[in-house]
Amino acid sequence: MKTYKIALIKGDGIGPEIIDEAVKVLDAVASCCDIEFSYEEALMGGCAYDITGDPLPQETINISLNSDAVLFGAIGGEKWDNLPREKRPESGLLRFRKELGVYANLRPAVVYDELVNASSLKAEVVKGVDLMVVRELIGGIYFGEPKGRDENRGWNTMVYTRDEIVRIAHQAFKIAMTRSKRVCSVDKANVLDVSQLWRDVVIDVSKEYPEIELSHMYVDNAAMQLIRDPRQFDVILTGNIFGDILSDEASMLSGSIGLLPSASVGAKIGVYEPIHGSAPDIAGQGIANPIATISSASMMLRYALGEDNAADKIDAAVKRALKEGYRTKDLAQYDAKEVCSTSEMGSIIANYAAK
Ligand code: NAD
Repeated sequence: MKTYKIALIKGDGIGPEIIDEAVKVLDAVASCCDIEFSYEEALMGGCAYDITGDPLPQETINISLNSDAVLFGAIGGEKWDNLPREKRPESGLLRFRKELGVYANLRPAVVYDELVNASSLKAEVVKGVDLMVVRELIGGIYFGEPKGRDENRGWNTMVYTRDEIVRIAHQAFKIAMTRSKRVCSVDKANVLDVSQLWRDVVIDVSKEYPEIELSHMYVDNAAMQLIRDPRQFDVILTGNIFGDILSDEASMLSGSIGLLPSASVGAKIGVYEPIHGSAPDIAGQGIANPIATISSASMMLRYALGEDNAADKIDAAVKRALKEGYRTKDLAQYDAKEVCSTSEMGSIIANYAAK
């Protein structure tokens, strides 16, 4: 039997509630896949600041680097909003990603058949959507130098090196090989030199993946096509700022922020987390949707641990729970047979996953 070490960072707000449900599901699936998990909890965010004076204690980095993967809840809340920038929970998270070297952010957007009416787009446009945005996470304009401002000017620099583009392109092509083998690389090569390099390098890397069908799209067109006909996409490969915007746009296709998982991966340890925040407005009420975090645990099994069978069981269990009409409060108006609490939803999915 294989044992995996998982660092658990529950964080603030609904973080502890949703991580507890993901752990419930992981343990259920472990029992039938001949694997087991040993968990070590680590502090990050406002709760870490309250106890240690630092939103990202060194011990959290050590525990994470010493594990096979990190399962992360969410951080932040009004209580810490007025702290100096470097003490704020969000600064801890950015530093954490940099320390772990997670350069690729993977964000699937799946529209479940049972929830097509929850999308703000028409059902016939979103039915069957299943795409993945692969976003470069630690380069591009958010990190480029020089940057600065004076009274009358502000400036940032979008810079990518060949190596940075090569590694994210490999990531996208490898993921596409496990899906329907189509990659659309999104850039602004008609205007930006950095995008021309991006496009040339992506084409070079694609030669190592002859089975992949590669296409290119300008970012403004991609923003429009995601709304016009999202089913045309499988894997979208893009840089940091374009990916930030497009992945949020794609996430809305599915209807609720409480459904969407993500993975941030790199050369070392991957971080698996829901795309939503700590939702302080509903924390402690037992109404948060745990599915985004449970699906993040499934991504962890697939991408960090290579346990595809266990991941498939979790994905099927989530689909079954939705198909049978179980809904948390955020989705209660969409064909609910039974509205359940965070913990009830976790137990239902765990029960199905164990079969
Ligand atoms: P949020 O994602 O926490 O909440 C936005 C809305 O979605 C809220 O109405 C919330 O109740 C709802 N929601 C979110 N997750 C849900 C779930 N699982 N089930 C049901 N409803 C859910 O965004 P926000 O309100 O802008 O931010 C709150 C705090 O979270 C802030 O401090 C922010 O900085 C932080 N934040 C953290 C992360 C992270 O930890 N990765 C990401 C985004 C925001």
